[in-house]
Amino acid sequence: MITVMKFGGTSVGSAEAIQRVANIIINTQGDKVIVASAMSGITNFLVQVVDSPTMDVDEVVKQFADKHLMAAEQMFDEKTLADFKVEFNERLAFFRECLEGDVNDAYYKDLITSQGERFSTLMLSYYLRKMGYESVALTAETAGIAATGLPLSGSADLEMTASGMTMKVRPLLSKGIIPVITGFYGIKDGAPLTFGRGGSDYSAAVVANALDADMLEIWTDVDGFMTADPRIIKNAIKIEEMTFGEAAELAYFGAKVLHPRTIEPVRIKRIPLKVRNSFRPEEPGTLIHSLRKKGKGLLKSVATKNDLAIVTISSAEIAYRPEHTAEIIGRMARDNAIIYAISTSLSTVAVLISSTDVASIITDLEDMKDNVIERIDVKNGMSLVCCVGDDLLSKAGVTGDIFTAVKEAGVNVEMISEGASEVSLNFVVPMGMVMDVVAVLHSKYIG
Ligand code: ASP
Ligand code: MG
Repeated sequence: MITVMKFGGTSVGSAEAIQRVANIIINTQGDKVIVASAMSGITNFLVQVVDSPTMDVDEVVKQFADKHLMAAEQMFDEKTLADFKVEFNERLAFFRECLEGDVNDAYYKDLITSQGERFSTLMLSYYLRKMGYESVALTAETAGIAATGLPLSGSADLEMTASGMTMKVRPLLSKGIIPVITGFYGIKDGAPLTFGRGGSDYSAAVVANALDADMLEIWTDVDGFMTADPRIIKNAIKIEEMTFGEAAELAYFGAKVLHPRTIEPVRIKRIPLKVRNSFRPEEPGTLIHSLRKKGKGLLKSVATKNDLAIVTISSAEIAYRPEHTAEIIGRMARDNAIIYAISTSLSTVAVLISSTDVASIITDLEDMKDNVIERIDVKNGMSLVCCVGDDLLSKAGVTGDIFTAVKEAGVNVEMISEGASEVSLNFVVPMGMVMDVVAVLHSKYIG
């Protein structure tokens, strides 16, 4: 039985946190493979370093080293600390070399921002050794995590990773060694390529996929997925279990429990996933798997996403001119805007995007205004409500029930997206009303 266990930044954020995590690891039965993020705050620090035009390399290295050594000194006895420092200093020398590398290289930011994971994993691995367990700290390089894609938004090459890890990681497991692997990045053409911020969850799912693990555990600082945001709904409760599809939709729209990309690598191999709280290991967390156990209620959870805008582009008979729609959406893609919903009619295309993307998109569409686009209207201050439940679409009358409840809250629905996913119904309301909508849906159909 192989369990892949992932620990996030706060779970390895201090000496106490690392000690707590080590206990969770040794109390888990069977073979264990650990994936960890950087200590909390470290990746943000590295992003700032890359973004600041003038950096003092000595100062950066010192600040970075101090943060890690402070924790190491609290955790290790003299002998362990001395051994640890040998490897630590090697990695630190490499970090310095990277900082002095070519800042104009397209992958420079990936190279620098992925450094934190190399140190958190080293500390955790040494702590396991100090406790008397055999462990090695592996990097994405030495573990064989292969990546493809563009700077800062890589994806794993699942096949290459599987063959790499079979050679490099499986033999360790058969010797009873606990590998502790860096999250957040893989290797493309010999250099680090990161999977986007918060990408260690995804790394762990990739590792689980590559090793055909029996279970993936994502250890974080909350108890699991909730029926609604507990800051909005006081009696929101934890969800015991849900399907891959439900978890993917919830993670994508709002709930910050799990990186949305974590689901796919485990779903395709039907590896169950648990979200657990490293500060409350006695809590069972949320189990995500492919089994369908019908819930009692109509809905499983209601999530929201705020600060969105509806951009409506009017163009005569655009429905008959798909190339115009393609051009408009293509320009949005080049701006890296995420489109949360899209809706079309004979002469309009409406898209739901983040308010922060509006200005650049309007600028980009400007030159189409002469011949293709007649008008662009923007409605700011919108929120997306995402209702999740298994088989929402196959139950008759669900949409009616949901919108009747919304009407009872006296709220006007601005846009609807239904049918794209089997498990979710999404609609847009003014931001000022979103809490009322969530409250009424939660009390009628969940709580
Ligand atoms: N350390 C990286 C970040 O902060 C990856 C992660 O935390 O998952 O984005
Ligand atoms: Mg992090």
